[in-house]
Amino acid sequence: MSQPGEPGQDPARRAELADRLHRVRERIDAACAAAGRDPAELTLIAITKTRPASDVRLLYELGQRDFGENRDQEAAPKAAQCADLPITWHFVGQLQTNKAPSVVRYAAVVQSVDRLRLVRALGTAARRQERALTCLIQVRLTGTADDPGRGGAPLDEVPALAEALAAEEGLVLGGIMAVAPLGVPAADAFAGLTPASAAVRAVWPSATIISAGMSGDLEEAVAAGATHLRIGTALLGDRRPTVM
Ligand SMILES: *Cc1c(COP(=O)(O)O)cnc(C)c1O
Repeated sequence: MSQPGEPGQDPARRAELADRLHRVRERIDAACAAAGRDPAELTLIAITKTRPASDVRLLYELGQRDFGENRDQEAAPKAAQCADLPITWHFVGQLQTNKAPSVVRYAAVVQSVDRLRLVRALGTAARRQERALTCLIQVRLTGTADDPGRGGAPLDEVPALAEALAAEEGLVLGGIMAVAPLGVPAADAFAGLTPASAAVRAVWPSATIISAGMSGDLEEAVAAGATHLRIGTALLGDRRPTVM
């Protein structure tokens, strides 16, 4: 049996992941065709939470380069097991300031910056480790007020966060990230991406990343202008119970 961290050699799993990756790419192509967009504008991020490092290796062998995780306790050892692969790690989960130094060690992008204290903690860690870190502001879309678990800064806090990120040495302001709220059609919720992205670009014009769209709503996200899709279950299958 293959252990996490060993080269991905399980042929059945490899075939399953190849098939899932193919079907996700077909969905992206169809969504782009419907929206009059070029699939080359989209970056697909494989969200590998609860899945072993061997799945990261298999997806890497299949051409995948961007990966995401939402918990540092799980992401740090997984990234270490894959340190020999030239892949880009995105941190997409809620982040405590005391975890910033650990996340900065492996992540190239932190997508979940939602408060000023986190800007400072990430800036300090990036400078100490001499790492360039791209940060996205996680914005709260309408409908999430009663759903604090999905997180994000309200629109009126976005300009101040953007100013702080643009001024923080060691950090690069890349754009925004959002998770669609539950109980609202994703297309309606994603309409909130446009003003949030405009507020960030007013501060930093090159901060054009819009990270939105998961397994269930990638089509709506592509229609709403997403540049980065964060896909977990459609690529990897149902999540395993958390063991770490
Ligand atoms: C888990 C997760 C995803 C992927 O969700 P799926 O529905 O499995 O595609 C995307 N973004 C964030 C922030 C996540 O935590």
